Amino acid sequence: MDLLSMWEGTANKNVNRVQIEGEQSCDVVIIGGGFTGLSTAYHLEEKSCSTIVLEKGKVGSGASGRNGGEVLTGYLGSMEYWAKKKGLQAAKQMWQLSLDSIDLIEDIITKNSISCDFERNGEFVAAYKPSHLEAMKKDQEFMANKLNYHEMDIIEKNEMKRELETTFYSGGCIDYNSAHFHPLNYTLGLAEAAEKLGAKIYERSEAVHIKRNSKNNFIVHTEKGKVIADKLVIATNAYSGDLNKKIKKAVVPVESIMIATEPLSEPTVKNLIKNNRAVSDTKNLLYYFRRTGDNRLAFGGSGRASSKRDQNQIYENLLDGMLCVFPQLKGARIEYRWGGKVGFTKNMLPYVGKMKEGIHFAFGYGGHGAAMSSLLGKTMAEDIFEEGNPNNPLRVKNLKSIPFHNQHAKAVGFMKFYKQFQDRFLN
Ligand SMILES: Cc1cc2nc3c(=O)[nH]c(=O)nc-3n(C[C@H](O)[C@H](O)[C@H](O)COP(=O)(O)OP(=O)(O)OC[C@H]3O[C@@H](n4cnc5c(N)ncnc54)[C@H](O)[C@@H]3O)c2cc1C
Repeated sequence: MDLLSMWEGTANKNVNRVQIEGEQSCDVVIIGGGFTGLSTAYHLEEKSCSTIVLEKGKVGSGASGRNGGEVLTGYLGSMEYWAKKKGLQAAKQMWQLSLDSIDLIEDIITKNSISCDFERNGEFVAAYKPSHLEAMKKDQEFMANKLNYHEMDIIEKNEMKRELETTFYSGGCIDYNSAHFHPLNYTLGLAEAAEKLGAKIYERSEAVHIKRNSKNNFIVHTEKGKVIADKLVIATNAYSGDLNKKIKKAVVPVESIMIATEPLSEPTVKNLIKNNRAVSDTKNLLYYFRRTGDNRLAFGGSGRASSKRDQNQIYENLLDGMLCVFPQLKGARIEYRWGGKVGFTKNMLPYVGKMKEGIHFAFGYGGHGAAMSSLLGKTMAEDIFEEGNPNNPLRVKNLKSIPFHNQHAKAVGFMKFYKQFQDRFLN
């Protein structure tokens, strides 16, 4: 689904980087030019470690330049769920990591003067059903009592106009620490910052084959060149192909799509989302939406098209969804529609680690990668210097394959059908 994204259409610049040709060498070769790979390069170069990034398409042409730009605290699933699953101590660490990830992005943006409309106005999670609001109240209590986190507020249904100009939802919850940005401008800025420190980034340079030489260096081959390096990082997330089978089988790519209106008048857009927060809802097949720096409404949801006709239909469905939430937008022109792949792991948490073959990896952020990927890129840089925290709760030793991975498209289709049913008919 490679339609021009709004982020591409409104990017600060369109930089074309050269394709790699011939032989090059460096300390660390990084495969994948999204948030994860570029952050690894940036943090390694800060430590004077030489890096080469190989990107199959263009910098940000994977999910990093195509997402909703909602830079969110937390993970898929509530922290109470993770505390039950992994223990309270691990949940506390996980929560702190999620806060650190947003601080890190803010820091990178400030330090490198990246112009990407970063706004830390918080997140509003809208309750699709009254029972979801009750669950949010319990979550808020858990966060305050067990994680000592107090930066959340519940909004009752009758107070909704303070946040959103809609009657579609039954209230919601604010988390004041989340943010949003122009994801492609952040990616491009991060790439430039890494290059200023010395990183070399090649585009249209798909890594097709990995070998080791007699000195145990990695040799990564592309169509026209190769890189010889001491260390190797794979940061291909939901776009992982056959290059490394273990990674491919440990991540399920799920399509998500977005539409964006034409620029709206400032009063109109300000009225839709009053406090300029990143918004998502609690539908199983969730919607996520936000204002953009140029006063559009960007609206996302899940969608998978198996044919061109289907593709038009899923965007029409998303538009219907947008008009259910904001009927006042009827008649607003949709200027952009695009999609990309979100990567999920078996346990629904991101993975970071090193394989026994010596390959460093981080992937599988679900819909929370805009924040966490920069931090896990940094974690991989620390791991390469053996400075990483061995007790990081996101660390995995053995990559878990997703059962029946080759059937995932059918499974995801079935799950979506079931979740749609739940949204419509269950409390
Ligand atoms: C439509 C959409 C909306 C989303 N919205 C949000 C959101 O609002 N908030 C949020 O937190 N997350 C969101 N996400 C998820 C988020 O975008 C990702 O988690 C994040 O971008 C992952 O970054 P990454 O660098 O790991 O992967 P990517 O950005 O996907 O980068 C991987 C790169 O690897 C390259 N590659 C693959 N194979 C090779 C190879 N063999 N050789 C060279 N290069 C290769 C690809 O071309 C790609 O550029 C969304 C995703 C999508 C698709």
